[in-house]
Parts: sequence; C-alpha cells; structure tokens
Amino acid sequence: MASITLENLNKTYPNGFVSVKNLSLHIEDGEFVTFFGPSGCGKSTILRMIGGMEDITSGEIYLGKDLLNDILPRDRSLAMAFQNYQLYSHLNVYDNIALGLRLRNLPRQIIDSRVKNGQHIFFNITDILEKKIRVINEAQKQRVALGRAVVCKPKVLLVDEDFARQNEHRRKEMMRDIRRINKELGITVLYVTNKRGETEIAGQKVISMRDGEVVDIKKI
Ligand code: ADP
Repeated sequence: MASITLENLNKTYPNGFVSVKNLSLHIEDGEFVTFFGPSGCGKSTILRMIGGMEDITSGEIYLGKDLLNDILPRDRSLAMAFQNYQLYSHLNVYDNIALGLRLRNLPRQIIDSRVKNGQHIFFNITDILEKKIRVINEAQKQRVALGRAVVCKPKVLLVDEDFARQNEHRRKEMMRDIRRINKELGITVLYVTNKRGETEIAGQKVISMRDGEVVDIKKI
C-alpha cells in the first residue's frame, strides 16, 4: 500500500524557526496531492521529511503501515524529482536511467528490459538513449530525470516546484507527464507549488498551507 499518513508532524530548524506545525494528514494510495501556498510556508520541508532528506523534530510518517521515521531515504520506496535533475552529464541517457537500478544490484537483463521496454517509451526518449546528457535539451533532461525516477517503480513520487522552474510551457509539459505517471502507472504523487494555476488540474487533492499549517483541503 502506498498511502501516506502523517501524525502530529513537527519541524523546528536548529535556529528555532518552526517550519511545520503539528501536521496530521492521510493521503490515499494512488492520489495526486498538491501542496499549495506562498513561498516559505513549509511545503518543501514536508516533502523533504517524507523523502528522508530532512530530520523530523517530532511526529510520525507512515507509508502504508510502515513507520518511515528511521528508514534510510534509499529504502523508502520513494522517488524524488530534484531541482537540478541530478543527472550525470558525461554519461548517456541510458546509463542515467539505469543508474538507480544498478545501485539496487538488479541483473543486467532486467535493467536492460526495464530501461528499453519501459519508461523511455512512455517518455518518448527512445531515440536519444545513446546521447550524452550534455547535448540534450532541457525538456529532454526533465523527462530523463522523471524516467529515472519511475523506472525504479517507486510507490510515491515527490516533486518540488523547483524541478520545473523554467518557463510556463515546460511546466505545463511536466504537469502532463506527472499526471500520466500518476494515472497510468498508479504511482502516488506529492507535488509542491506556489502557482495557483497548477492547482486547477482535475483529479488532484489540493492541500493549502500557510505558516506551517494546513488551512484548506479540497478535491478538484
Ligand atoms: P516552501 O517550500 O513553502 O517555500 P520551505 O519548506 O522551503 O518553504 O521553508 C519553510 C520555512 O523554513 C521558510 O521560512 C524557510 O526560510 C525556513 N527554512 C528552511 N530551511 C531552513 C533551515 N535549514 N534553517 C532555518 N530555516 C529554514
């Protein structure tokens, strides 16, 4: 089960700043959830705590029935789409997508079939598999980063708005890709944005935040 439950989650940074205040939430398996609110209201902090990149001050995070608090980020069955994509420019597209699978020590044939028959078709990047990252365009890089995340079959995909901070057109394309990942692959998606336009896509649950607290939850 890829539901996520947050129970009385709090984050106080070492300088005393309280970024997330006593947050309790339940996200169903397969939901597309958007955290929406002004810059600085704690959206990314929540995502980073779920992903394990940020310590939790107090509270619990569950994936299904499993308590995630003390589980290493790489063992959480989550994928995170990072701001700078974290792609290796000297490697080609194939090797970048295969990276996460190789780290899991999967057999070569399985890696090959997952990369070749899997998400690159979904992401329409078949014809650039041999190209080095440094020669492909931004749109393609974003798709490679998403492809690399989903090829590992995560239960949940975490996407921060910084991942799509380019132009409007790119953001729209990325939203479409993420919607497909959610609908066609059934992966639960948690997306963070401060753009109201991105909270109007059908099928989302929009969680509005202010000063580290949830102020509204609605299904679009
Ligand atoms: P959002 O994603 O909504 O823009 P963040 O979760 O990134 O907000 O940050 C929430 C608040 O926590 C902000 O006011 C930010 O300045 C503060 N913050 C983030 N990281 C730290 C840190 N390491 N130390 C102190 N304050 C931080």
